[in-house]
Amino acid sequence: MQNKVGIFGYPISHSISPVFQQAAFANLSIKATYEPWLVSPDELEGKVNSLRNNDYFGANVTIPHKVQCINYVDEVDLWAQKVGSINTIVNRQGKLYGFNTDSAGFLMSLRAEANYHPQEKTALVIGAGGAARAAVHALVKQGAHIVIANRTVEKAYDIASEFEIVDSVKVVDRFSEGFEQACDNASLIVNCTPMGMKGGQFQNESPLDSSHIKEDVLVYDMVYNPVITPFLREAEKSGAETVSGLSMLVFQGAESFKLWTGKTPSISVMSKAARRALNS
Ligand code: NAP
Repeated sequence: MQNKVGIFGYPISHSISPVFQQAAFANLSIKATYEPWLVSPDELEGKVNSLRNNDYFGANVTIPHKVQCINYVDEVDLWAQKVGSINTIVNRQGKLYGFNTDSAGFLMSLRAEANYHPQEKTALVIGAGGAARAAVHALVKQGAHIVIANRTVEKAYDIASEFEIVDSVKVVDRFSEGFEQACDNASLIVNCTPMGMKGGQFQNESPLDSSHIKEDVLVYDMVYNPVITPFLREAEKSGAETVSGLSMLVFQGAESFKLWTGKTPSISVMSKAARRALNS
């Protein structure tokens, strides 16, 4: 009987997924344990294979394994293929399926927290790593126009080149006038860099200061620890509406939970547990 699930990462002690996923299992009276699994890149293939055992629902996957894991599962969902990484593995009778729930989690959180619908709107995405890729794919699929700005501009071009609808995704140099214009034109600005992340090298930094944030823009920070980041504080100074990445973390986790169990977990139970874990 399936009763085990966990998250692969390296490091892993910072992850709060075990706390809010365990709360979701308890709330639905499902007898299962969700564990943090410290797995080095060398151990990854073996650990993924061990999920084929009947005991396992599957796993979540986090930094630095999201791209590499694609090679160790049997089938990869079309959406995850487009994003180029997986964050969820599902064990179905010994066969392993890879999914990416980050994009869905991002869109769900935009809708739930700010009633934001991206169709025909213009979004500025700052960063060009895995989180930016998930955001850009989600927004393009919804019919938004995207501008990507990144410290290493070539990486932004790499993402933009993946889209056939070339008019939908543009790139601006992070340090040009075009960047200032993009800030003015956007109805949504998303930070997809680790700037502001607790314990990180840039924990006190914001990708933008308040002078570049209009009052009527929605400001979204993928960074979720702390819940109120330097970027969100700058946005608050401008009077802009803000959304913390904690909401996306919970929604992507809820999508993984549904894939493993076929059941819909309580977002409220998961969110409360996640906030408690960050504050402890
Ligand atoms: P990543 O793949 O390492 O990409 C990081 C991006 O940020 C790169 O494009 C990098 O630019 C840029 N960057 C890093 N430091 C910078 C700085 N000091 N100034 C300007 N740009 C900088 O990381 P990721 O996986 O995309 O994650 C990014 C953040 O999102 C992390 O804090 C992560 O925890 C968070 N995240 C949250 C969720 C959620 O559910 N809320 C999900 C995924 C990720 P270069 O290309 O120049 O190196």
